Parts: sequence; C-alpha cells; structure tokens
Amino acid sequence: MSENVLTQPATSVPAHDPGTYRRLPAQSRPVDPAVVARLLAAEWERFTGWSGASGEHNLRASKTLPLGVTSSFQHWEPYPISVASARGAWLTDVDGNKLLDLSMGFGAMLVGHLHPTVVAHVTEALTSTGTLFVTPSPQATEMSERFCERFQLDMVRFTNSGTESLMYAIRAARAYTERKAIVKIEGGYHGGYDALQVSVKPGLDEIGPADAPTPQVPFDVEAGTVHVVAYNDLGQLTRVLEQHGRDIAALVVEPVIENLSIVVPDEGYLAAVRALCDAHGVVLIFDEVKTGLTAGYAGAAQRLGVTPDLITLAKSIGGGLPLAAFGGRRDVMEVVVDGRMAHFGTYNGNPLVMAAAKAVDEICTHEALAGAEAVNVRALDAINAVIDEYELPAHTVGLGVKGCVTWSTTPVRNYRDYKATDFGLAELSWLWGVNRGILTPPGLDEQWLVSLAHTDDDMATLVDDVHTLAQALRA
Ligand code: PLP
Repeated sequence: MSENVLTQPATSVPAHDPGTYRRLPAQSRPVDPAVVARLLAAEWERFTGWSGASGEHNLRASKTLPLGVTSSFQHWEPYPISVASARGAWLTDVDGNKLLDLSMGFGAMLVGHLHPTVVAHVTEALTSTGTLFVTPSPQATEMSERFCERFQLDMVRFTNSGTESLMYAIRAARAYTERKAIVKIEGGYHGGYDALQVSVKPGLDEIGPADAPTPQVPFDVEAGTVHVVAYNDLGQLTRVLEQHGRDIAALVVEPVIENLSIVVPDEGYLAAVRALCDAHGVVLIFDEVKTGLTAGYAGAAQRLGVTPDLITLAKSIGGGLPLAAFGGRRDVMEVVVDGRMAHFGTYNGNPLVMAAAKAVDEICTHEALAGAEAVNVRALDAINAVIDEYELPAHTVGLGVKGCVTWSTTPVRNYRDYKATDFGLAELSWLWGVNRGILTPPGLDEQWLVSLAHTDDDMATLVDDVHTLAQALRA
C-alpha cells in the first residue's frame, strides 16, 4: 500500500463492552517501514548514550542473576534501565536520571511510590505490631472483611503472588467439581503455574488454525489437560464445552486482557461466558491480578457487571508489598474448610503486608480512583487528537487508570489480532518514550498506568512524546 492511501476502519466489528475504552481513528495512512527502521536504529544508539551506568550494572548483575534481573520480564537487549530509588510517580536510575514511571510495578504501585499512608502503616507494623505471627490475627481478619465487602466475595484467602493465587484457584475448582481439565484463553498470561503455561505467547506456526486453535505446551511444564480458545469467540468456547464440558473444572480468563496491551471484551461476551460456564457446571475464574483496583473501586468484574465464581487478585491491592488473594463463592471456597483442598503458606496474610493492604484500601476511595481515571481519559483523548492529526495507523484502548496505543487500524479482539499489529512501531514508540524519560514496561504487550500520584502535567509529557514521534514518522 502506498504512503498516501487512506484506510477506513472496518465497520463490521462488534461493539466493545461499554465499561471499557476503545477509540479508532476515522482514517489513517500507513507509515513507511524504512522510516521506522531508520528511527529505531537512531533511538537504540541514543539509548546507550545516556544509560551507561545501567549497562555497567547489567554486566555486574549478570554474573550472579540470570540475565542480570530478578524476573525475566525486567530484561531487554542490550540491557534494561536499573533503578536506584522511586517516589510518587518518578524513578531515579543508577545514572541519576529522573524517569516518569508509567509502568508503576506492572500496576502494583497504583497508589504511587512511598505513599505516606502506606509508609505510615508499614512503619507501624515494622516498629510496633510485628511482621509475622503465623497465627490468626485481627489484622488479617479485618483485611478479609474489607476485601469481601469491596469485591463482593463470600470468602477470601491471602497468598504472596498472583501465580500462587491462580494455582490455588484452579485447585479449588478441581476439588469442587471433581474434574481436572481447564480452559484458558489463547495468548493469555496468568503467572507461572504449570497448567497456565499453555499457549501463553505461542508462535503462530505452533498453534493451528485460528478457528480451531491447538494448545502449545512448553517442554518444561506438566500442564495436564488444557483447552485453548480465542478471546471474544463464543463459538469456540461453546464447542469445547459441548465436547469436553463434563471433564472441565474451570475456565480462566482475564475479564479484560492486560497482557496483550489491552484487549477489551465485546459487548455481552463476558455475560455469555458466564452463562456457558453455568450450563456446563464449570467454575468461572476471573484473573484480576492486573485489572483489580486499576479497573475501578471493586475491580473489573463489578465494573463490567459479570460475577465470576472465583477471582484472583494481586499487584494493586498490596501497595508494592507481596500480597495476593483468591476468593469468591462460599460453596467453592468451602473446599478449604472441609479439607478437599489444602491451602497453606508461611507468609500468608502476615501483618506487614496486611498493613500495606489496609493503607491501599483506605487510599483507594471511589473519588481517588475516579480522579486518576479522569486524568487517564484526558491523556487518551489528547493522544487520539495526535493520532487523528497525523493519521497514524494506531488506536487507543483503556480500562480504568490504564491505557495503551495499539499500532493497528482495526480493533484487537484476540491473540491473533494482536500478533498482526505493527511491532516495529510498538518498539519504536516504547523506546522513544524511554529515551525521553518516560518508562513504560518493556515487552510491547503492556500498558501505562496512571497512579494516584500522576498529574495531568505528568501525562502531558506522554502526550508530547507521542506528538514528537508522530512528527518524526511523518517528516
Ligand atoms: N495473572 C496475570 C494476569 C498477570 O499479569 C500476572 C503477572 O503479571 C500473574 C497472574 C502472576 O502474578 P505474579 O507475578 O504476582 O506471580
């Protein structure tokens, strides 16, 4: 297609859930791949010019830490930026550069770095309450009551990571249904539990046709029976449940996918998924590790009006401390009460993380979250204006305080659509930001987070950044 051909977005795309944000440009023009390649080369050269201490640090760290990082998500080539400290919405790297943090711990830092209320509560635990009792405590009981109230759960158990919560949610579903198989969404990431390693970000050559995806199982995992369906495809889910429903314990899905940038549900999709699970006696698990409080006061389930049987929470609920949870319907959670499922953990619900959780619960009022969401929506709208002015082949997607630019003129409704987006432009726009002091997560499948510490001025730097990139692309 030539530079000047205008493309109109497809009109036959189903409407997206009204609780989510997606805005397509009226028209767009392709970007010359040669321009992207030239700008990318220049930006990588620029990167090494201001981040020397991070490079040195990566050399040192790589001797004792594989890839020089503590989680492989943190790594990128030639080396990631190493951060020495953080406050509010800002990071200071080991070179002394100030960076606007739009990653915010993949959403875990929703309230901002070193929020005074979190610091006060955690300091109280460290200096007066204690950090670990391994006994029942008023602190853990109070937080279970607060979580059940906020997220409309009958019962909840605390864990230490999203991975652990997903593992236990699946075990609870198996114990409850006396079935073993699970269904997951193609391309979906849910942490490190074996059953959920299937078809996480598979190569297209490994997963069969789009209308009948085959599971991709990494060699190093023992997954059990895992069926894989495309997100937003009720036909595939109906077929799998009709054929295998009697063996399926659970369907695991992020209600809004936040590991493929942001992929929002079609209007009515989640309600139909709920009805299908009910019809086949399958436990519906909403993985809200990433959505959670970033989707709104009571998470994505409440925002979108569909109630799962179990929900998993992590990241945003802990104020930066390692806290996660799983909970939901009483009759399912009772597998823990009567011993059908064992749930243990030395650090579960310890008073240190409970203190942080209480602070987050106090800080994340309806008003506070609505304020941050308004900042996010103003930023998304301003970026839309840039996309329109430069007729960029891109659109914006958001949920609550999160947003992203997706480099495609058509909506991304599932993993295969996501794989068809322009990764060259995605890499360039991410690196463009990093080189201008804006850190969004690496990996090109993430989104920005407007924390309670971010202001309209902070987000204006992101908008300016998209603007200067657009100018360079069209120069
Ligand atoms: N589920 C989702 C949707 C996630 O994004 C993640 C982590 O990014 C997890 C589960 C795993 O959480 P954790 O890293 O705390 O184990």
